[in-house]
Amino acid sequence: MTHRKPLVAANWKMNGSQALLAEITALLASTNWSKIDVLLCPPATLLPGLAATGQCLIGAQNISQFSSGAYTGELSASLLMEAGAQYVLIGHSERRTLFGESDELLAAKMQAAIGHGLTPVFCIGENLQQRQQEKTEQVLAKQLAAVYASHPEFIAKSVIAYEPVWAIGTGEAASPEQAQQAHASIRQQLATYDAKAAAAVRILYGGSVNGKNAAELFAQQDIDGGLVGGASLNAEEFFQICQSAKG
Ligand code: PEP
Repeated sequence: MTHRKPLVAANWKMNGSQALLAEITALLASTNWSKIDVLLCPPATLLPGLAATGQCLIGAQNISQFSSGAYTGELSASLLMEAGAQYVLIGHSERRTLFGESDELLAAKMQAAIGHGLTPVFCIGENLQQRQQEKTEQVLAKQLAAVYASHPEFIAKSVIAYEPVWAIGTGEAASPEQAQQAHASIRQQLATYDAKAAAAVRILYGGSVNGKNAAELFAQQDIDGGLVGGASLNAEEFFQICQSAKG
């Protein structure tokens, strides 16, 4: 069986502060994390401060599909990397729904990230209606195909996050069985493009992960850690979630 190192990632969205960054990185420094990877994705303004702590992996929350130029307010891969980023979230449901990011645009962002050496955390997930209509696997397959059908070589350079939209920020996480089933179907779909890379790629679960439910979710066969929103803004709870990924 392929060994996949667990990864716990924090998505602060448009929250947090230098004070929270100091609190969380100080707590992280108190433990040895050699068995897992910990990734913080704070707002872009906090990236250099996080990089200076040297405490964990560093991720941005968004990226421009362009390399440079007249795109006011946008941040390119090289600017993000100069600020310290190694990872970047792409395809978060808030970007897809609130900012209208299409499958095509996300594919271009994936290209921009990977082309410059950033590791994308590619987020996919079905909404409530799609789940109720039993279209979950179909939706996930389409979101994956938009990127990996033409670029199977991107699988080995990605982390995937399964984030059912109905579970994000609602306090209603997917059950471990529901999540495992979706993760297995994602891995199966990716295996149609590249079986070896599909077995090795890390697939994170995201959607109302907290200190209480993390251990059981992370214990599932195809769940390789989590992408944590709300609970990552509480230093102690995030620390506890990271601890549960150690197994
Ligand atoms: C997220 O936004 O990626 C997320 C998973 O949020 P939450 O943990 O708050 O549901």
